[in-house]
Amino acid sequence: MTESSFQERKTGIYIHIPFCVQKCNYCAFLSFPASEETRTKYIESLIQEISLYNIKPEKTEHYKAEKNKAEQIKTEVDSIYFGGGTPALLEPEQIEKIVYKIKKVFAVTGDVEITLEANPGALGGDEEEIFNKLSEFGKAGVNRLSFGVQSMNDDKLHLLGRVHSASDVVRDFEIARDIGFDNISLDIILSVPTETRDNSTEADNLKSSIDDVKKIIELKPEHISCYSLQLEEGTVFYDMAEGGLLKEIPDAEDRNIYHAVCDLLKNSDYEQYEISNFALKADGETENKYNYRSRHNSKYWDMSEYIGFGLGASGFLKGKRYRNTTSLEEYCRLVREGKKPIEDVYINNEHDFISEAVFTGLRRIEGISYREAVRFLKNENFGNDESVFWGYYSNVRKEAEEFEKNGYLEIDRKGIRLTETGIDISNRIMALFV
Ligand code: SF4
Repeated sequence: MTESSFQERKTGIYIHIPFCVQKCNYCAFLSFPASEETRTKYIESLIQEISLYNIKPEKTEHYKAEKNKAEQIKTEVDSIYFGGGTPALLEPEQIEKIVYKIKKVFAVTGDVEITLEANPGALGGDEEEIFNKLSEFGKAGVNRLSFGVQSMNDDKLHLLGRVHSASDVVRDFEIARDIGFDNISLDIILSVPTETRDNSTEADNLKSSIDDVKKIIELKPEHISCYSLQLEEGTVFYDMAEGGLLKEIPDAEDRNIYHAVCDLLKNSDYEQYEISNFALKADGETENKYNYRSRHNSKYWDMSEYIGFGLGASGFLKGKRYRNTTSLEEYCRLVREGKKPIEDVYINNEHDFISEAVFTGLRRIEGISYREAVRFLKNENFGNDESVFWGYYSNVRKEAEEFEKNGYLEIDRKGIRLTETGIDISNRIMALFV
C-alpha cells in the first residue's frame, strides 16, 4: 500500500436494518422480526438521522458563496452498505429514499459501491416477485449484492434456523445475474456440525464444509466470505450446546476445515485478501486487481472512517468511535428531537490509533506496513518508519521475533504479516500490539 493511497481514503456509510423474518439459531446480531408499520417508522427515523449530518449554509447575503462552501466541505463517501438484519425485507422505494438522502447530505463519488445484504428467501415467493424486487433495488442504486448463503445443505440450513433452502440460493443468484448484477458476494459458515448429536466424524465435518464451498464456487460469485461458527451466549445454539444437544466442532478440527477451504478457494481463482474474505481474481490490467474486494469492509481493516446509521450502528469518525443506542424507542425519540442517537463515544488516543491499526491491519493477508501504523504517532518523523515502529513497540519486539522464528509472523523492512499458521493464533499475536 502506498502512502498516498491511505491519505486519499474516503468515508464509508453503514446502514443498519435490524429486521428479520425470524431469528436464526446462531444469531447474536441486533435483529428481530417487526411489523410493516414498525419498519416504516424506522426508515423515517433513519432518514432523519442522516439529515442530522447535513451541513447547512448560513442564510446571509452571501448565501450563494456559503452554499458553495457547504458543498465543498461535505464528507466524501465511496461506499454504502445496507446490513442487518435483513435489508432485503425493505421495499425498494425505501432503499431509494435512503440513498437519495445520503447523496443530498454527503459528497457521494460517481463510482460508489452500494451493497445490500439480500438473504435468499427474503426477496419474495416466486421468480417474478424476486426478479422485480432485485431489479428495483438495482434501480435504487444497489450495485453489489451480498447473499447470506451459510450452507448449501438443507439439513444444515434447517439446523441453523435459516428460512431458505439451497435451491433458493441458486434461484436468487441466477435471477440476480440475469438482471445484470456483476458483483455478488456469498457468505458461508464453516464448521457447522452435520449432526446435532455426537455421531458426526471429523471426516464428515470436513467434507460437509468443503461440499458447501464447492457448490458456491460453481456459481462463480465475485466474492466469498467464510466464517467459522461461533457459539454466542444468548443464542439457541448456545443453549443447545449447554444442554448437550449440539456438539461444537473442536478448535483443531475447525482449523483443518478452514485451511482446506482456503486452499480450495485459492486453487479456484480466488485471492485471499483477509482472514475470512476472498475475491475473484479480476481479469485484465493490474489497476483492476482489487476490483472485487469489498471496498466497504476494507475500511474496517485499514482504519478508514465510516459512519454508522441506524439502531446500534457504530462509527469511526474524526478520531472518535461511537455506537448508537440499541433501544428502538429511544432511537426514534432522539432522532425526532433532532439529536444524534449516540449512546457511547470514545475518543481514540495515540496508542488506540496505532494498536487498532496493527490489530485490524493484521487481518489482511498483506499485513500492516510500518508506514500505515506510524502515521498516527505525533513524532513519527524521528527516524525511518521501521525504526519508529519498533521503537514504539520495543517492549514486545522479542516476543514478536519469537513468533517469527516459529513461523507464525513475517517481519521484513516494510511491515509485518501473519503466516498461514499464524492466522490460527491471530488473537495471541494481535494482543501483543494492543
Ligand atoms: S438473517 Fe442474519 S441477522 Fe437475521 S436472524 Fe439470521 S443471522 Fe441474524
